[in-house]
Amino acid sequence: MSFDTLGLDPSLVATLATLGYESPSPVQIAAIPAALAGTDLLVSSQTGSGKTAAFMLPALQRLLSSPRPGPTEAGTAQAAPMRRSRAFSPRVLVLAPTRELALQVQKATHGYGQGQRLRTACLVGGMPYGLQLKNISRPFDIAIATPGRLKDHLERGSLALDRVEILVLDEADRMLDMGFQEDIDFIVGKIPAARQTLLFSATLDGVVGKLALRVTRNGQRIDIAPEVKHTAKIEQRALFADNFAHKTRLLDALLRDVELRQAVIFTATKRAAEDLSESLQSQGYAVGALHGDMRQRERNFTLQRLRDGNMRMLVATDVAARGIDVPGITHVINFDAPRQAEDYVHRIGRTGRAGRTGIAVTLLNQDERGLMRTIERYTGNPIEVATIPGLEPRPRTERPRTEARRPAARKPGTSAGFGYERRAAEKRTPARGAERAASFRR
Ligand code: AMP
Repeated sequence: MSFDTLGLDPSLVATLATLGYESPSPVQIAAIPAALAGTDLLVSSQTGSGKTAAFMLPALQRLLSSPRPGPTEAGTAQAAPMRRSRAFSPRVLVLAPTRELALQVQKATHGYGQGQRLRTACLVGGMPYGLQLKNISRPFDIAIATPGRLKDHLERGSLALDRVEILVLDEADRMLDMGFQEDIDFIVGKIPAARQTLLFSATLDGVVGKLALRVTRNGQRIDIAPEVKHTAKIEQRALFADNFAHKTRLLDALLRDVELRQAVIFTATKRAAEDLSESLQSQGYAVGALHGDMRQRERNFTLQRLRDGNMRMLVATDVAARGIDVPGITHVINFDAPRQAEDYVHRIGRTGRAGRTGIAVTLLNQDERGLMRTIERYTGNPIEVATIPGLEPRPRTERPRTEARRPAARKPGTSAGFGYERRAAEKRTPARGAERAASFRR
């Protein structure tokens, strides 16, 4: 299968060739022709599946096939005196849950649309308004936005949505998880009903299904199973830990693996990400934290250091790490297990990028076996239980009652990193660690 069988304009196919895309991915094969036909789509697909091209290529084709209309008069009648009298509307609107993902989509759009005279505006929270306002003060074609910031702009009258022809909801499940439902409904209410809506989500069940029903019309459902091909490129392992101190020793051994070039280490909370990052830094690792409480400038700076190879480890929370696409990431380490199977898929998708192989290691408490099985069922891929010689977990019967009774998960907002630095430091024995890492066996 090649891209020129999907109905795409030859200029777009030629661009894809320059980007090294040889053949379309399953989501692209299914979604591109349907989107080009103008159908509303509800697509279940995972991170790393190539979904950005699946919605952006048909959108670009639409823009290329008809000229950009002039500015709209939206906002003039009701605008407050100090508001701009003319607001421009994009023709394509992409809503994404996080800044990182939105910036990633914008970057991909620039790649797919290279050579075309298209203007994009990225309207995301945590960034100054000035540049965003400047970008939307002239006609533009594509807005890529997080719901909260877009709603702000709409309320200020700085842009209109009355010329939107294609609405994309990217990672709709995550937007709902993050509490954007009301903002999404507000935004959708400003877009003409005669639009095409493309909704992408890891799952189409539950609240996402309800949202899909509200925003799409006769939507065609496309289910792309969690990508066997993609996850097959990622070796998935689990290491059981008796307690927190054991976990830190396991992490220590993993980080000494000579095969580890760059790693993303996931924690359950922002505080835990900070604590673990500081602890690893004090041990001499080139490491940084990435979480939602950081200013956008800090987040960008951290991600750039990772991309440039100046940072070996990133300690991140789920939300902050979405959309990270750094080919050098060889390992994903779940220091805290993900809360749900979908988060697991998003996490491990940070490695094995750009056709490379990756290793995903999940550190689990004994009482998280059920979670592991849920993940295996969800992905359809087995996770191999591994041990590191000298750091095997105690047989379950040996565990003291207090540990066996420990709750499975911390309450939200409490720190996973309590005492991390001290505990990690007192147990570290570099030479033994190196030996252990070398003999890490599945
Ligand atoms: P996405 O799921 O859109 O975030 O894409 C994941 C990664 O796959 C990105 O690095 C894309 O540039 C890349 N990609 C998407 N489609 C293809 C394709 N057909 N061939 C090769 N790489 C692709």
